[in-house]
Amino acid sequence: MFRSIKGIYYFTPSNILMKRSRKQNFWKHFQTQKAAILEIREIIDVHPFNMPFESELISDLIFERHYFCSKHKLRPSRFRKIKSYSCYSFEGDFSNNTLDPPIEWHAVSWTKCLKKEQTDWDRMIRAMRDRCEPVKTAYKLAHPTCEACKAAPAVEVHHAAPSFIDLTKSIRVDVEDLDIESCLSDWNWFHKKDFALPEGHKITKLFDAAHEDCRLESLCKKCHNKTKKKK
Ligand SMILES: [Zn+2]
Repeated sequence: MFRSIKGIYYFTPSNILMKRSRKQNFWKHFQTQKAAILEIREIIDVHPFNMPFESELISDLIFERHYFCSKHKLRPSRFRKIKSYSCYSFEGDFSNNTLDPPIEWHAVSWTKCLKKEQTDWDRMIRAMRDRCEPVKTAYKLAHPTCEACKAAPAVEVHHAAPSFIDLTKSIRVDVEDLDIESCLSDWNWFHKKDFALPEGHKITKLFDAAHEDCRLESLCKKCHNKTKKKK
């Protein structure tokens, strides 16, 4: 901003800062996500399987951007890659963090830390999808034929009205940020990787009630694809 004092214009430091930060880096010194992926892949590639190694950069990445570790200030000190069916699984050593019960090696995804950050509400929505899976499975068993074309076998159960996303939006209106925080507070990623809606919580109750009123529809692949095009 220019400030005018008795007609004299001063160039304030905030203005200079604004100019400098116009092009923000993706993370640390990396201008893009791709550049970060390439450099981290290079660090990992040189280490043999099962051999622990240290990397300040990857420790920082987990500490700053991992959805659970960043919240709980956890910083793995070493890493190792374990040969697996799909290339390798990546593990961090958490033994230097005072955890109760203590955790040593635990799988941790560095690639997820470089993806677009999910909000806590995104996590709620994913848990809502998981929660309605058994209901959808039961519905499909009861309605094995596509309810749209009435011919092909049903492969998918669709939230006909309201749509799933509208249903989650209607719940969000009745939920405070503090409710989301409390809903996540007891979840321990070390014990249960995927967050599930806790029984008895306000958000869980709201979801169950709203989902009960939702009209489901069994659809074949072709008819289900048509609902996607409409969106
Ligand atoms: Zn059909």
